[in-house]
Amino acid sequence: MESTILIIDDHADTIRLLSAMLRDQARVLFATNGLAGLEIARAERPQLILLDVQMKSMDGFEVCARIMGDPDLRHCPVIFVTASAGIESEIACLDAGAVDFITKPLNGAVVQARVRTHLRLQAALASLDTLASRDGLTGLHNRRSFDEQMAVEVARHRRQHASLGVALVDVDHFKLYNDHYGHQMGDDCLRRVAQALADCTRRPGEVVARYGGEEFVVLLPNTTVEDVLRYGQWICSHIEGLQLPHEASAVGRNVTISVGLCAVVPGLDDTAVQLLAVADKALYEAKRAGRNRSTMGVASHGSVATVSTPC
Ligand code: GH3
Ligand code: MG
Ligand code: MG
Repeated sequence: MESTILIIDDHADTIRLLSAMLRDQARVLFATNGLAGLEIARAERPQLILLDVQMKSMDGFEVCARIMGDPDLRHCPVIFVTASAGIESEIACLDAGAVDFITKPLNGAVVQARVRTHLRLQAALASLDTLASRDGLTGLHNRRSFDEQMAVEVARHRRQHASLGVALVDVDHFKLYNDHYGHQMGDDCLRRVAQALADCTRRPGEVVARYGGEEFVVLLPNTTVEDVLRYGQWICSHIEGLQLPHEASAVGRNVTISVGLCAVVPGLDDTAVQLLAVADKALYEAKRAGRNRSTMGVASHGSVATVSTPC
């Protein structure tokens, strides 16, 4: 994928010069003042920002401080472009959070080499991030990434008094599937189920993850009990509708799932672990009641009541 570089500089000549130097390495965007630059950075998420230190309305240090203070932008590396060489100005740039600086007059080879280095570093960090947060088999979020996101969502829903939904999904009789078709086919099946769940989970903020083995979990922000119930039924019938043959299943001819659901406005004492425990009890109940169904768990006075919905 082609990288994007954003140049923020109030001199058109410098922008022209830098663009000419960099256009073979990346897609180049530019802004002629700090505010416009921040706006473009938020919309385009460039891999690198080249930032002029001396600008009229908002100088480069101020722009850099705002980039560093913005959770969506702080991972984007900034290289300062400065006319003033010297140790103090170098320190000031690095203290502001820049990864590097380039001094004027601009030398094409130096600019290209520095930019190449930082684009490579950025690409390496991005793939590390993917490795750390994605499941290798299915490409879905992994459990660690899910737990992080769920903790944030529980806190947000508590603040906003909004209802947060969770669905724990477990493939029915998957041990028998492996025994009958072999582990390789088992892996293929898990990929198909993962893709189908991802297809069913496309609203902004929704997260679907592999929770472990043949278990998946879905986070449904701002979702009421009724909506979560509907979602549970929907994914059950969607997976059954894939008609992936499972001759060894005791439930039917095809691969099916059981789903444990939970939807609550998190109270002061409710944690992600507790909500997942409610969904897990509901999942257990869905299995017990015959599989290929979703069950809603309702926490009350330390115990969990459940309501099952066959699909
Ligand atoms: P239930 O309907 O009660 O959920 O029965 P089950 O057989 O699905 O549940 P059980 O927990 O007994 O077995 C889960 C199986 O999932 C056993 C394990 O070998 C298989 N499994 C877990 N992870 C993977 C994987 O990555 N690939 C494959 N092919 N199989 C896996
Ligand atoms: Mg399981
Ligand atoms: Mg299972």
